[in-house]
Amino acid sequence: MKKVRLEDDFYQFQNGEWLEKTEIPSDKPLNGSFVQILMDNEKKLMADLKEFSIKGVDHKIYNNELFDNFIKLYKKATDKEQRDKDGNTVIKNLVNKVLSVKNYEELQTILVELIGLGLPALISFGVQSDMKNASINALYFGSPSLILPEKGYYDKENPAYAAGQNLLAKYRETVTELLNIVGLKDTSTILSQTLEFDELIVPLSKTSEEASDYVNSYNPYTLEKLNSKTNFISLSSIVKTFVSDKVEQVIVTNPKFVEGLDALLNNHLELIKSWLAVKLVYSLAVSGFGTDSLRLKASEYGLLLTGQAEAQSFEKFTYNQLSNEFGDVVGTYFGKRYFGEKAKKEVESMVQEFIQVYKERLAKITWLSKETIEKALIKLSKITAMIGYPDRINPVFNHFNFDETKSFVDNMLAFSKVQVSHEFSLYGKKVDKDLWHMGAHVVNAYYQPMNNQIVFPAGILQPPFYSYNQTKGANYGGIGAVIAHEITHAFDTNGARIDEFGNINNWWKEEDFKAFNERSLAMIELFDGLEVPGSDAKCNGKLTVTENIADAAGLSCAYEAGLKHKDFVPADFFAGWAHIWRFKANKSYLELLANVDVHSPAYLRGLVQLKNFKPFADYYKLKETDGMYIAPDKQVAVW
Ligand SMILES: [Zn+2]
Repeated sequence: MKKVRLEDDFYQFQNGEWLEKTEIPSDKPLNGSFVQILMDNEKKLMADLKEFSIKGVDHKIYNNELFDNFIKLYKKATDKEQRDKDGNTVIKNLVNKVLSVKNYEELQTILVELIGLGLPALISFGVQSDMKNASINALYFGSPSLILPEKGYYDKENPAYAAGQNLLAKYRETVTELLNIVGLKDTSTILSQTLEFDELIVPLSKTSEEASDYVNSYNPYTLEKLNSKTNFISLSSIVKTFVSDKVEQVIVTNPKFVEGLDALLNNHLELIKSWLAVKLVYSLAVSGFGTDSLRLKASEYGLLLTGQAEAQSFEKFTYNQLSNEFGDVVGTYFGKRYFGEKAKKEVESMVQEFIQVYKERLAKITWLSKETIEKALIKLSKITAMIGYPDRINPVFNHFNFDETKSFVDNMLAFSKVQVSHEFSLYGKKVDKDLWHMGAHVVNAYYQPMNNQIVFPAGILQPPFYSYNQTKGANYGGIGAVIAHEITHAFDTNGARIDEFGNINNWWKEEDFKAFNERSLAMIELFDGLEVPGSDAKCNGKLTVTENIADAAGLSCAYEAGLKHKDFVPADFFAGWAHIWRFKANKSYLELLANVDVHSPAYLRGLVQLKNFKPFADYYKLKETDGMYIAPDKQVAVW
């Protein structure tokens, strides 16, 4: 192995050995710090769930009725023999229903059925907090997803175009086989009609970059206005079937789609039927709503997309599917069994330290007016933190009754129905800010702008991010920087336009916002066009700007907090940061991420953020000739 000087490439210096000896698991598209914890959690939970489904839940270990019910479902889910016997009936019936539609009235009926089951329909409605009145739930109207993962793949001028064409060929091949298996005839017509309709949706779709702008997704329409956009189907009657309260306003996330909806429906009934049928077959097959062999067939397209070598085994897939769907139920078990009070206390006190450091930093900022700083301080003081696992499990799980006499798939559809109707029942009600949007076993963290809240599941509070036994530096460079990163989202490009209550609200003085935008632009430039090693992709500075701002500020805030402790060693801190961004993925996956992910590639997060961090250069006394050196006037600090 080449020896690298830390002054030239700190990322390689810290991770070179790991990168060399680590392999990408055959059923994952990547490996890295996140994935290694994920695999540990997966192993632990799969073993526990298996044992419980054989012997029943040991109530001395965990006593929760929802979890007991979940285990019964899990047992049914893992009975492969029975699942194969159940076959693909549910998929066949639904698809045949779609294909037998004769007019727009019948189309509307089937759309209502699909929406009610939470399945892909041409249109979608959802309920979540109103971005301008974040304590109350509002109704949203969304647009369908394209077959390819991003709009750019359809654009001849885009470097991803060639990959897109390859993917479409694979999609065609995979779906043809799926359609044959479920017994459909004339599959080539169905497929060409599907692709033709997909092309029609392309100009009405948002790019990932456009979608990453929260504020632009807020476009309130009166229900009357929304309804007037097309006469082919009645959007207001569809709303009425789901929401019992009178709906005055619907928030449209993508107005281009709404404005183009009428032309999209006009004269395209046959195309729509085929498109819906294909979307259904593919999504149900790939989500395991048919036989396992159908799932494996369907996953071939995804394998090409991600470059993953093979699909997950039946056992692993089933575990992942169910632990996702029942995130709160499984996560709370995981949190209570594997996450300790000691860790919770320490992480909680870190959060308070970072908020304090942020306070001190804000007070010292010279490029903002006093008024804006005051408002930022208020927003900061209102941030709430959730650590470990939720206090309460989402009530939606109370509404699902497992039915032993029904098949696994019918149980899952029943659960899906429950989820949809529960969501619509929340319309107009107060937002429950105690609920989590991620299972506590998940290796991730988030900032929820509408709640002005940061959430750290037990899943991520493990080495190398955090351990009671790690050095202070490693913990602060690991989970510390991630916590501070999440806090910064309150003040990133999106957060800067949302107030302390989670409402879209311009709380900035105009010249301050201008100064902020200038700094954001400098951050865009710092990352834009950087090569992603191991791929042909380049980093999109605009798509990743909010995350890069959060990384930069997170790093420096956690560092400053660390310095207040006697046992804090900066070298451990920098190493900790580099370690958490260990990452290895195959070429297609790196390219996919570069197109759709709002985060910069892990390698650049680990490397460029340190290059951009003055205390790093000072600590290692970097010289202009060192690879890690960036001229101080080229370094970007937003917060
Ligand atoms: Zn983030």
